[in-house]
Amino acid sequence: MSTVTIRDVQVIATQPGGARLVIVKILTSEPGLHGVGCATFTQRFRAVIAAVERHLKPLLIGRDVDRIEEIFQLSCVNGYWRNGPVLNNAISGVDQALWDIKGKRAGMPVYQLLGGKCREAAACYAHAGGATKEEIVDSIRAFQEQGYQYIRVQQGGYGGLEAERPAPEGAQPGSYFDPRGYMRAHLEVFDHVREQLGFAVELLHDVHERLVPIDAVGFAKEMERFRLFFLEDPLAPEDLEWFRNIRQQCSTPIAMGELFNHPREWQPLIQDRLIDFLRMHVSQMGGLTPARNVAAFGAMYGIRTAWHGPGDVSPVGHAANLHLDLWAPNFGVQEWCRFGDRVAEIFPGIPEVRGGYMYPNDGPGLGIDVDEELAAKHPCTDGVETWTQTRLPDGSPARP
Ligand code: MG
Repeated sequence: MSTVTIRDVQVIATQPGGARLVIVKILTSEPGLHGVGCATFTQRFRAVIAAVERHLKPLLIGRDVDRIEEIFQLSCVNGYWRNGPVLNNAISGVDQALWDIKGKRAGMPVYQLLGGKCREAAACYAHAGGATKEEIVDSIRAFQEQGYQYIRVQQGGYGGLEAERPAPEGAQPGSYFDPRGYMRAHLEVFDHVREQLGFAVELLHDVHERLVPIDAVGFAKEMERFRLFFLEDPLAPEDLEWFRNIRQQCSTPIAMGELFNHPREWQPLIQDRLIDFLRMHVSQMGGLTPARNVAAFGAMYGIRTAWHGPGDVSPVGHAANLHLDLWAPNFGVQEWCRFGDRVAEIFPGIPEVRGGYMYPNDGPGLGIDVDEELAAKHPCTDGVETWTQTRLPDGSPARP
């Protein structure tokens, strides 16, 4: 096979829905051969675009497209100071695009390059919610009717409904929540849901790091009786030492890690068997290459994958998740955000979900592309994030 080189590295940014999606497109020396990869960091998208266009592109032009591992390793250290969501998302866009190209050159879907399928499709979970217990049960039932067997349950947004406790005079605007009120409300919600629906449906819940560590331990213990499929992010990355306390006190399965940046951050949690699911945001970690490695490491310790799959992972990123899902012997479940038709039009080949399972299209590479003309009709908007201006009842800023 003749050497094919990187001819250009481009960025496509589009906002067809709420999230600003960033895609890297690598053009090659072979006419018509290109690859795409997800580099979406919706809250800091301009920084990622600059990292790709101004820093990675000059490094990559002329390099052999087949040398994915070398390019990944080089890109991680070429700036000397390393890690972080901006650079890792930029590297991910390149890494996934190179896997896409390698698959196209081989005439195979990426899951074949990883080692082939362990399953035909990836079981997905959807997000049920509502303001009241009754609305939440209705929402779960609607997803069950669509075939979903795994359903995440939240009352209101992360941290629950808006805090009702009074703020002090002069409190700053923001997204207020009450951590202990959130815990009480969700124990009531899950009591009601299990009473109404029984235990056959697999339920998940995301704490989103909204609790202080000792409350997170208590909450995980109380949630044990609902036999969740997993409890997500009960603790923040800053509080990793507390996972041991949860483990010692209950058998609630724990999912963790969407905020992790470096593969080594998983190491203590995996080797001490303190978590059960790898909630990696694959683009934030640097792409398919590091995700494959962490998945294989987790497999040795009986820890399953549950790649982050919200609306601020682009459809290209969801396709990358799916190829890992089909291959990983330790696949657990896949989060699915249910993109609308407008997004699907921009991304031909977007994974399809039917009956609660996500299916590949068996095109070569990642099996997905970007319609650049359509994408350009939805340019990204600038603005200051509001949902991340989270506050405790007394007005103190808190983790979103
Ligand atoms: Mg989460």
